[in-house]
Amino acid sequence: MITAQPVAILQDNYAWLLRDSATGATAIVDPAEPGPVAAAIDEAGGRLDLILLTHHHGDHIAGTDDIRARYGARVVGARADAHRLPRLDLPVGEGDSVAVGESLGRVIDTPGHTHGQIAFYFADGGVLLCGDTLFSLGCGRLLEGTAAELFASLGKFAVLPPETLVCCGHEYTESNARFALHADPGNAALRAYAEHVRTLRAAGRPSVPSRLADELAANPFLRAADVATLADLRARKDKF
Ligand code: ZN
Ligand code: FE
Repeated sequence: MITAQPVAILQDNYAWLLRDSATGATAIVDPAEPGPVAAAIDEAGGRLDLILLTHHHGDHIAGTDDIRARYGARVVGARADAHRLPRLDLPVGEGDSVAVGESLGRVIDTPGHTHGQIAFYFADGGVLLCGDTLFSLGCGRLLEGTAAELFASLGKFAVLPPETLVCCGHEYTESNARFALHADPGNAALRAYAEHVRTLRAAGRPSVPSRLADELAANPFLRAADVATLADLRARKDKF
């Protein structure tokens, strides 16, 4: 089974250290800053098998070659974006599986924020690595894709088991909460969850991973019933 630990990097990014409890195999997701990422890997025993990349933005891939060289790990990323990712040892796409020890992660194509964005879902452990597609109480900007694509991508997450841990790429939750409360002021679950997040952050703790069930109850982007609603929310958030 996979466990996931956030590693705070850069200004407000998270890399994620994954460990397969059966074998001790490990993977790091989006290791954009080598120093803190290597410190986390070394503290966990100094073993790194795989580097998983969600998309090509610098704040997700910048440390990849450094970490690859230090640990001899293999790099997994979207075949569709191979031309703008670090050299891939394992190019993947929708439906492919990535093995971290005995745990299998399913690759999910999630265009919207970028064309070649992918997510990894480990059913054993219930861990979703979703990059910049879904954030706690928010979602990524539509930099390359359409609202229809993002709607379909979020829909692939919405059907996962409610206890799934949402491991996203940024600590944006408090600022996302401000817009969410503005967009959906009558949502009692959102108000309670936003208060929970405020308490966590005031104590200096990460707000993620969140539970998918909480996102389904409180995240206006995940709750959008159709493409037009999602497009409208995203456009309003861009100007908020
Ligand atoms: Zn991004
Ligand atoms: Fe990012």
